[in-house]
Amino acid sequence: MTDVDKPVREIRINPIVPSESVLVATARSMRPKKAEAPAPRDTRAHVETCPFCSGNEHMTPPPIATYPAAGDWQIRIVENLYPVLGDDRENPNLTFGLQQTIDGYGRHEVIIDNARHGVAIHEMGDDHLGLLFGVYREHMEKLYRSNPRLRYVLVFKNFGPAAGASIAHTHSQIIATPVVPDNVQAEVENSRRYHEKHHRCIFCALIDEALTFEATLYDRESGEIRRKLDVGQFVIERGKKFIAIKPFASRYEWEVHILPLSHQSDFLAATPDDLAELARLFRRTMARLDAVLGGAQYNFFLHSVPHAPAYADCGASYHWHIEICPRTSIPTGFELGSGLFVNTVSPETAAAKLRAVTLTD
Ligand SMILES: [Zn+2]
Ligand SMILES: [Zn+2]
Ligand SMILES: [Zn+2]
Repeated sequence: MTDVDKPVREIRINPIVPSESVLVATARSMRPKKAEAPAPRDTRAHVETCPFCSGNEHMTPPPIATYPAAGDWQIRIVENLYPVLGDDRENPNLTFGLQQTIDGYGRHEVIIDNARHGVAIHEMGDDHLGLLFGVYREHMEKLYRSNPRLRYVLVFKNFGPAAGASIAHTHSQIIATPVVPDNVQAEVENSRRYHEKHHRCIFCALIDEALTFEATLYDRESGEIRRKLDVGQFVIERGKKFIAIKPFASRYEWEVHILPLSHQSDFLAATPDDLAELARLFRRTMARLDAVLGGAQYNFFLHSVPHAPAYADCGASYHWHIEICPRTSIPTGFELGSGLFVNTVSPETAAAKLRAVTLTD
């Protein structure tokens, strides 16, 4: 039995947000979860009734932007028909005893990733994905500029019914909110505290650890090897500017994070060169997930430093990243009730399997 196949039963603490922990329990008998079937892949290039397909542009609200601006579009941005936040009218915030509210002011846009209906991310060309990341950046910037009340712009994608996608046609979403989401807030605050103490970015420290640490931990009583950490054990992909890492305390079995190798707090600071390499590394990571999972249903989120005066000092402590979270099981009552995620595949094993996939380009 190699170290990677050893059963694991431990609660792992998220190093960035220590209040978040994960029970990694890999023994068969401990599997409390129901597996989610792989997404039935709709691979059709065009669907007559789909509002996001080319030729059906009249079925969506008028576009906010199209890329390219003239001719056949490759990427198209429209208002969300069912926005979770609206900008129709601004209300003052309300406080009444313990019932505090913040006006649900915001913007919700849909980015139609590709004119082709059923194309998966890993099947899109690097140029197309580079353009897509450029579109994310441009619209994040535009939304931050549009109203100082908007404190966070979240870019995310749901793919597959298990990930909450209601329209099969490949698309991402961009939501600008008057509050910073709790999970980003926790990352920002904890990384700021870490920086105050250690004078360095905790995300950079994690990258260093993944690339340079080698260790063997022995049992104090028996002297037997308890754990081995090899250099690169949690690394899925490494480029010149970006790295894909399997977090040691992953909430989801196949969760992978992508980070710039050099410190950068704000996604808006990424150059066209950066985005071109991100596109390639992102596509290769998605191809690995697709090969291992056979059609992944997933969410991904882009986490970047919030744009508000309270975060002006986070340039050195925060580090932008993309969290890719494939949905391979339904959360159990135990997870929802305890807030403790259960992961039934050890991150070491998952990383080894993802790395073992052979890619042609
Ligand atoms: Zn379509
Ligand atoms: Zn950093
Ligand atoms: Zn994050």
